[in-house]
Order: sequence, then C-alpha cells, then structure tokens
Amino acid sequence: MRCNKIHLPNCMEINCADDCCRYGVDVLPEEYRRIILSNLATSQEFTRPYKRDGELIYRTKLGKRGCVLLMPRRGCRLHLSGHKPITCQTFPKNLSEAKTANRQGYLPCLDIMKPGP
Ligand code: SF4
Repeated sequence: MRCNKIHLPNCMEINCADDCCRYGVDVLPEEYRRIILSNLATSQEFTRPYKRDGELIYRTKLGKRGCVLLMPRRGCRLHLSGHKPITCQTFPKNLSEAKTANRQGYLPCLDIMKPGP
C-alpha cells in the first residue's frame, strides 16, 4: 500500500500559537500511566477516565492556552520526552484532516507544508 506521508514543519521552528493543542487530547490508559510514572504530568492534569467503545480513555484538562501540558510560552511539555500520546504524534492523519483543521484555524502550518516524496 502506498503511503503519502504529510511532512509538516517542525512545530518548534515556526512561529505559531500551538493552536492544534487548543482542545487537549484523548489519552490511552497505558499512555496515561507512562506519562505519570515519568513525572511528566500529574493525575490532576487529566480528566477522570470515561468509556469510549468499551475502552477507558483519559483526556488532558484545559488551561489558559489549551491543553494543560502546553508550556507557558511555546510547545508541549512532552515534546522531547518520547511520551506524546499517539493522537498527538499522528495528527493530522491525512490531508483531508489537515485541510479541515487549517480551515477551522488551528493548523496554520499547513500553509507552509511541503508534499512528501
Ligand atoms: S499532549 Fe502535548 S501535543 Fe498533545 S495536545 Fe497536549 S500539548 Fe498538544
């Protein structure tokens, strides 16, 4: 199967407001445990788990800038840790999702995105 990977610019090298993190993110239980055990966040920074499709899901709470794991000026606290939730690592999943987010104003980097090989 051919995969057309979207090559977004490095988040930390462009000037944006981290708007793609404005709504927080769903976090799987194993991700939640890894983040807590690595002292990257506290349990108070997540919602109580809820069930979705029979699976327990946590969600990051929201602060002034959006996801509570955003740092005060720029970027995600988890960015260099290797413990970003899979949803954050894989966003946007495809060009359609990217275009929708861009139209809704929370993926401005799409405007400077380069097509993959
Ligand atoms: S965990 Fe990090 S990358 Fe994911 S929404 Fe929160 S701040 Fe953004």
